[in-house]
Amino acid sequence: MIAALKSEEQNQLQLVEREEIDDEEDLFEAIDKLISQGINAGDVKKLQDAGIYTCNGLMMHTKKNLTGIKGLSEAKVDKICEAAEKLVNFGYITGSDALLRRKSVVHITTGSQALDELLGGGIETMAITEAFGEFRSGKTQLAHTLCVSTQLPTNMHGGNGKVAYIDTEGTFRPDRIVPIAERFGMDPGAVLDNIIYARAYTYEHQYNLLLGLAAKMSEEPFRLLIVDSVIALFRVDFTGRGELAERQQKLAQMLSRLTKIAEEFHVAVYMTNQVIADPGGGMFITDPKKPAGGHVLAHAATIRLMFRKGKGEQRVCKVFDAPNLPEAEAVFQITQGGIADA
Ligand code: ATP
Ligand code: MG
Repeated sequence: MIAALKSEEQNQLQLVEREEIDDEEDLFEAIDKLISQGINAGDVKKLQDAGIYTCNGLMMHTKKNLTGIKGLSEAKVDKICEAAEKLVNFGYITGSDALLRRKSVVHITTGSQALDELLGGGIETMAITEAFGEFRSGKTQLAHTLCVSTQLPTNMHGGNGKVAYIDTEGTFRPDRIVPIAERFGMDPGAVLDNIIYARAYTYEHQYNLLLGLAAKMSEEPFRLLIVDSVIALFRVDFTGRGELAERQQKLAQMLSRLTKIAEEFHVAVYMTNQVIADPGGGMFITDPKKPAGGHVLAHAATIRLMFRKGKGEQRVCKVFDAPNLPEAEAVFQITQGGIADA
């Protein structure tokens, strides 16, 4: 869809060119702005140490959470919240303002026009998109393609931002980024520099990596967070039947963190999910499968996509559940240059 560009034009596509982002109105108020409202720097530092880097992030914590931070008394927390409310409106807004806010949502291209059209333009910021489906159906390949397309300028259907990648299965391949970047006419080295990557080994590690992201996202313009896959470690770390309730509770906590990150930092969250056998799928359905994670995961995802293999190299994506998309399908293909039209 997007032809490779000549080398002199290539430079213009790189993220180093930050002016465009700087011109945008501030998406969030940094927590240190509280100092101008009379909060002392020491208390601001305590909030940052607890992983709170923006005023929006502050309001996503309960008072109980905040007074749990060492050195913050109830009186201090009240003063801090009052000060934050002077900087950001956390109350009602009009429907028109809500519409205006929705306009700041960016759609990031998947690399396939058919898939983009199915998704109303691409993967949405301020939302969680979940892809589930059988092995080799293209979930991880889409993650790799998004690593690159997110860095395209918005007028090329990108997000003009950086990418954070949490890998729980060990399937991220930086060398795959190179041909994908070349296909989009971008410098592969610069593209790789704008991806921060972490391999998670336990569900706790995965959660801590999410907590650590707030500091990075409040400092630099990120537009995408990938978690591939969101559930794998939970299925390994909680194996006993009696552990299911605890697993779902911890999973809910992690998903709530993802929702908050999407809203606080205006990023798109793309997470993959595994499928499990569905014995209740009916005797006429051969090999019935359903997404793992149960209701907890179903409620957390804004847009749920089901991937499956089609003919040859073709893959099919079906909208499984989404607030404003019709339940339709798109056919795409996995190529050396990433996801593309079939
Ligand atoms: P899993 O559930 O096992 O994680 P997945 O849905 O993440 O599966 P992917 O890894 O995204 O699956 O897709 C694997 C498919 O991508 C394979 O069929 C493979 O042939 C194809 N593929 C990988 N690299 C390339 C490439 N460079 N060119 C073309 N196709 C490729
Ligand atoms: Mg995969």
